[in-house]
This record gives sequence, structure tokens and C-alpha cells, in this order.
Amino acid sequence: MTILKVGVVGAGTMGRGIVEMLAEHEIFVILIDKTKEAILEAQKQIELSFDKKLEKWAITLSEKKMHLSYIQYSLELDLLKNVDLVIESVTEDLDLKKEIFKQLDVLCPPHVVLASNTSVLSLTEIAAEAKQPERVIGLHFLHPVSKVNLVEIIRALKTSDETFVKSREFVERIEKVGIQVYESPGFVTSRLILTLINEAMLVLMEGVASAEDIDLAMKIGYDFGKGPFEMADRFGLDSVLAAMEYLFHEFGDPKFRPSPLLRKLVRAGQLGVKSGEGFFKYDNNGERIYDNMEMVK
Ligand code: NAD
Repeated sequence: MTILKVGVVGAGTMGRGIVEMLAEHEIFVILIDKTKEAILEAQKQIELSFDKKLEKWAITLSEKKMHLSYIQYSLELDLLKNVDLVIESVTEDLDLKKEIFKQLDVLCPPHVVLASNTSVLSLTEIAAEAKQPERVIGLHFLHPVSKVNLVEIIRALKTSDETFVKSREFVERIEKVGIQVYESPGFVTSRLILTLINEAMLVLMEGVASAEDIDLAMKIGYDFGKGPFEMADRFGLDSVLAAMEYLFHEFGDPKFRPSPLLRKLVRAGQLGVKSGEGFFKYDNNGERIYDNMEMVK
């Protein structure tokens, strides 16, 4: 069955990115959030993003109008009863996600695939809330959705082959590369990148090299687009800490123990781009400030 209409729950950074990308692929999409402010902000940011593409001549005015015509915004979860796929992208909170899946399971007919965009959480635990756990799957998009062409397709313990095949076809339809992942904390991408970031913080703490030089080493030495510290600042140090704590708890392995430096910065409210300072400093547009740059010692 072709997926023609998608519901996205959660109008934050990721929800907005997914919606914009779907509209560009001429897929009807309903974006749901719990607050009017979040919906209005999402609408503003999506239009702004199309305007930027228009300015760069990447799209025409009629294409912008056409893309926008594929998007509907609402506060009513009930509207999702007529979609073919729901992608949940609310705040990374297991109890919240479980509650949403419980509601979606009642609301959506059995053929509807219920996906979560969680970065690390257990799909099996989320699926346990559903009467039909076979239709629950992970579709882990990476930020920024329009530029990163990878989607981790995560099979929970009871995800059916049918749900997996439908999801893989959908990922192909939106021109992304899907990899099949069997559920494990942090899947593939989050587990590897978080471990690298955490290790980089330990290297910094030990005084082996500065944050700037460690980032340079990985960018030049290993062709990384961004070094581990700039990545961490962009993810949000509070989100990195929460994810590391989850991995540590799930695996019970000391290699996932969050670095004390990470805890210290989060306690100080130094959260990265969103607070203006993490390992580096940022302006209101999220751009790095290079003058008077102070390294974290
Ligand atoms: P965000 O904080 O920017 O947005 C979350 C949104 O969810 C907010 O708009 C909030 O109002 C909404 N929300 C909360 N409770 C809700 C409810 N009951 N009903 C409807 N909406 C509700 O978060 P984000 O960065 O977009 O992350 C969303 C999900 O995507 C998380 O699971 C996260 O782990 C995952 N993810 C994030 C990234 C990233 O780089 N930001 C990358 C990949 C995956």
C-alpha cells in the first residue's frame, strides 16, 4: 500500500524538518502539536525555509505555494485517523511517547503504520502500549532532515515484516537511504556518535588537547563535517547528557558513563547553541562566534 498521507506529531526541530521534506516530495502531511505557539512557530519556520530556497533560486514561487498546499497544521490528534503513516516526533520522553502511542493505537485503523523518531529510546517498550505492536516501528531521521539522507528503520521485537517493508518503501519514496536496525539502545548512529562525543570530553578533561584542536583533528583527519564538540553544542548538551544516561542505564557498561565535564556544563546551564554557549560561543542565529573564543578547560 502506497503511503499518500502522513501525520507528524510534534512540531519541534525534527517535526518541522520532516514535514517540509514530505511536502517537497508531494506527500500530504498533517502536523500536530499540543500548543498553538508551537504550531505557529513551525508554520513560520517552514515558510521561512521555503523563502530562503526561493531567494537562492532553488525553487520557484509556484513551487513554494505548491509545497505549502501539502501541509495542514492542527492541535487535534483525531485528524490522524485518516492517514497512512504517523511519525511521532515529540520531546524525547519515554512516558510521553508511550501515552501518544496508546492514543494513536486507538485512533488509527489497523493498516496505519505507527513510527517514532526517537533517537535512543526502546521501540519495544513504546510498542508495548499498542494492541497491535506489529505496526510500530522506528524511523530515525537525522538533523537537518533535508540534508541528511539516512533513515534508521528500527525493528522493535514484534514489528512485522509487512510494517518493515511498507516503511522501507516509504523511505525509498522520499529518496533517503534506509538501514535496517534491530532494536538496541541508541540504535547504530546515536550509540556511535554519543560514545565519540563523550570520549572527546574525557580527552579534553585529561588535558590531552583543546576542544578546538580535537574538533580540527576529526574534521581534517577523518573528514568529519563537524567535530565532536560543535556537534554536541548543536545537539544540546542537556540532550547529550540525557541520552548518555539512558545508554549507561540500559547497557550497565562503564564505557557509557557520562563525562563529569558534561554534567558540570549542563548544571551551569551552558547547553550549547540554544543557550549561546557550550564548548564554544554562538550568536542569536546559532552561528559560531570566533572572536574572543574561550576554550573550556
Ligand atoms: P523539540 O523539543 O524541538 O520538539 C518537540 C515538540 O514536541 C515540541 O514542539 C512540543 O511542543 C511537542 N510536544 C510535546 N508533547 C506533545 C504532545 N503531547 N502532543 C503533541 N506535541 C507535543 O524536539 P526535537 O529536537 O524536534 O526532537 C523530537 C524527537 O526527535 C525526539 O524524540 C528526539 O530524540 C528526536 N530526534 C532529534 C534530533 C535532533 O537533532 N534534534 C535528531 C534525531 C531525532
